[in-house]
Amino acid sequence: MHSFTLAFVLALLAHLAVQVWLARRQIIHVKSHRDAIPPGFETAVSAAEHAKAADYASARQRVGIVETIYDAAIVLALTLGGGIAVLGDWVAGFTAPGVFAGTLHLLAVFAAMTLAGLPFTVYQTFVLEQRFGFNRTRPATFLGDQLKAWALGLVLGGGVAAGVLWIMAEAGTSWWVVGWAAWLAFSLLVTWAWPRVIAPLFNKFSPLEDKPLRERIDALLARCDFHAKAVYVMDGSRRSSHGNAYFTGLGREKRIVFFDSLLTSLNAAQVESVLAHELAHFKLRHIPQRLLVGAAMSLAGFALLGWLSRQEWFYTALGVPNASDAAALLLFMLVVPAFTWVVSPALAAWSRRHEYEADAFAAQHSDARSLAEALVTLYKDNATTLTPDPLYSAFHDSHPPPAARIERLRTLGSPVAATP
Ligand SMILES: [Zn+2]
Repeated sequence: MHSFTLAFVLALLAHLAVQVWLARRQIIHVKSHRDAIPPGFETAVSAAEHAKAADYASARQRVGIVETIYDAAIVLALTLGGGIAVLGDWVAGFTAPGVFAGTLHLLAVFAAMTLAGLPFTVYQTFVLEQRFGFNRTRPATFLGDQLKAWALGLVLGGGVAAGVLWIMAEAGTSWWVVGWAAWLAFSLLVTWAWPRVIAPLFNKFSPLEDKPLRERIDALLARCDFHAKAVYVMDGSRRSSHGNAYFTGLGREKRIVFFDSLLTSLNAAQVESVLAHELAHFKLRHIPQRLLVGAAMSLAGFALLGWLSRQEWFYTALGVPNASDAAALLLFMLVVPAFTWVVSPALAAWSRRHEYEADAFAAQHSDARSLAEALVTLYKDNATTLTPDPLYSAFHDSHPPPAARIERLRTLGSPVAATP
């Protein structure tokens, strides 16, 4: 056995073990706090709501454990099990080698992975979310979404695959620099196209008509010297009762999008404070920092792929006897995450720091108490557990644990409240 085969299997198993261990910790921790509402939340959350959040969190973790093991088995089946090689031979049976054959090979593997993951998507939507009363997706909507997503995957995924394969074939040994530049250009194009072309395929966006709220938002934007093109309401409640708010687009073309379910559960002051938080991610330059780090990481990824794709052992050690550009891309996508997961706690910690900074910004430019109220309402509506396991949270969570976050907002809000 090649030593890289062993390294890959060990890394994959280590990741699996850590994920299952953390998920089990989360289930045990949440269950043991099921009957005790944490201090500070007693008036806002009922015992039944707290228990529901605990049950929802444990149910999701249980499905998550099964899915984690299943996904690892799929990765092993496609690599060492010979799945990538078999699909490559199948495509080679009716197409001459080249960019087109490589694209078909990539699409065939993606299709196999999508089909393999479908039972989990169905279960999550129609069993798990249904049981806790969040699902509003009807089977027809679900089927329509899937067909649209597959069509989009075929066009975008096929286009990207063909583009990268063409660059690999034509641009010489430094192809990865060209590939990286093309990847950045493609990411920008998608960021531009998303709110205009792609998101409207799935949801309806209408201008925010609530006049008083609109004036409040305009005042906040003016106060923070922020320019947004438009404020939209999205019909998120067609699929789920989970609420959210976000920004899309680039530069001066930015749009603010509210899920309709968020606007029905929060009052105007709370909506304003949530928006102030989202706005902070731009004003404090969190978004450009993330883009920069993402670009640097993808450059490192392309450089690594450029080198790995020239190593004979990269193919033979991973269940692919015949090297090809398509196989290099597929192996890279499936195998590298087995090693890179070790940096995810650092990225999560970085994201949590940004969340605290954005909360502080919102407290300064809007109102800390309204933001705390809004967060508690969202925790309640989304059945977010208020008592996550500290280690699980440190490893996975992009947002700070609820109790710590609310506590921080209370101290930020108190000087204002204490002034006569
Ligand atoms: Zn945030």
